[in-house]
Amino acid sequence: MIGCASRGGDSERAPGTDSSGGASEDTVADTTDETTDDTAPGDTGSAGDTSLTTDEGVTVGPLALSDRPRNVLVITLDTTRRDAIGRYSGDAEATPFLDRLLSEGIALDAHRACSDWTWESLLCAQAGRMPYRLGFAWSGETGGSAVIPDDVPLVSQALLEAGFQTALVSAQPFMGGGVGLSRGFQQVRYTPDQPAARLVQQTLLTLEALDADAPWYLNLHFLDPHHLYEPPASYLGALDALAPCPYDLSTGAGYEAMQRGWGSLSESSRALVRSHLLARYAAELRYLDDQLAALWAGLEATGALEETLVLVWTDHGEQLYQHGSPNHGAGLYDEETRGAALFWSSDLLAPAAWTEPTTHLDLWPTLLAALGVTVEMTMDGYPLGERPDDAPVFAVHYRGGETDQSVVVGEEKLLVRWDGVAQRYALGVDPGELEDRFSGGEEDAALWELLRPEVEAAAAAAGGAAAVLPDFE
Ligand SMILES: [Zn+2]
Repeated sequence: MIGCASRGGDSERAPGTDSSGGASEDTVADTTDETTDDTAPGDTGSAGDTSLTTDEGVTVGPLALSDRPRNVLVITLDTTRRDAIGRYSGDAEATPFLDRLLSEGIALDAHRACSDWTWESLLCAQAGRMPYRLGFAWSGETGGSAVIPDDVPLVSQALLEAGFQTALVSAQPFMGGGVGLSRGFQQVRYTPDQPAARLVQQTLLTLEALDADAPWYLNLHFLDPHHLYEPPASYLGALDALAPCPYDLSTGAGYEAMQRGWGSLSESSRALVRSHLLARYAAELRYLDDQLAALWAGLEATGALEETLVLVWTDHGEQLYQHGSPNHGAGLYDEETRGAALFWSSDLLAPAAWTEPTTHLDLWPTLLAALGVTVEMTMDGYPLGERPDDAPVFAVHYRGGETDQSVVVGEEKLLVRWDGVAQRYALGVDPGELEDRFSGGEEDAALWELLRPEVEAAAAAAGGAAAVLPDFE
């Protein structure tokens, strides 16, 4: 059960406080005592402190800390494409502050999301398992069935029980909007669709109200750069160089009109619309980057970064009509499923780049090991440095009856849809996934052997839903 969270070598943790986080008209919920003590079927393992502790500090793979972190700050960047970040795009102006964090911390340069959609990505990170391994399925529709059962253990509960003050600041409906992922947070400051600048203010207010003498865990979820891409006008100068867009992409109605009209657009009109989407998306990301810089300035001014380990990660990417759709949740292609993640500290950590594959499942096992917190919950990921070289990386997206699943090993990806469609891509020579190499032959079968248990587990979790599986020779 999750109620056994413990921290090696530290008996000084005080129970968290529950102060309200300052005046605000936004929703602020005090959810103290909401933790559950249940055990999900099959969850009998423990995960957490696999760190190596010496007189010189704490080591988790490439994560070399001079001491145990006292506090933890997790920042989720929604809808952020890896290849739009300066470090990966080559554009030094794209995300200068995020690039600074990536170069100063431990950059996970081969990171992958476990989905192209928020719900699945958040769940597999914070429960530490693929959603179908937790014994339930989502219909793919929004509504009641998306609610995560109370008996699914979450790291937020574990940290609360380990003595951290816990707080959530979020603009993302899946993180704070009644889906169940706010379990374990004493403070929930959830304001749907709020821009990043507002969340920065809320975060600083929340931290200000915490007990400075007790450790804290704050989870901040920015919705930017989710569409609509509508940063302040000062960020949109690049649009001036473009011919006018046939759709008003600053409004939901205009965005939807684009989606409806795309099929009948000429190639030149599509190129123009795509240019507007790219420019708006880049502007939105740069706006977010500036808000991160503002957040850091505020955190430094209050001393909140001292003895604090920061995790910044992206939940999924964004498609801009690379595979026929805008938005995300459109397919498990790399523009939607490659990710970025980094661990950072102002005073505890030596910078390094980590080029071995990682996935969202690995983020929390790494954090827990760094914190020295052991939890009685099964987590399927690996702390940094412990993932075997050939361990496959899986992804899933629920789309009603059309669930998609994929596996990546090295530079090979197999993508299977439950309606029987299968695709294989050689990412090393075809990073844009333009040439489907699936033939049902040996290479496909080898990948399918890895993916099949995941598909079977997902089908079982969906109540034995019948997946139409691809044919192999
Ligand atoms: Zn998202």
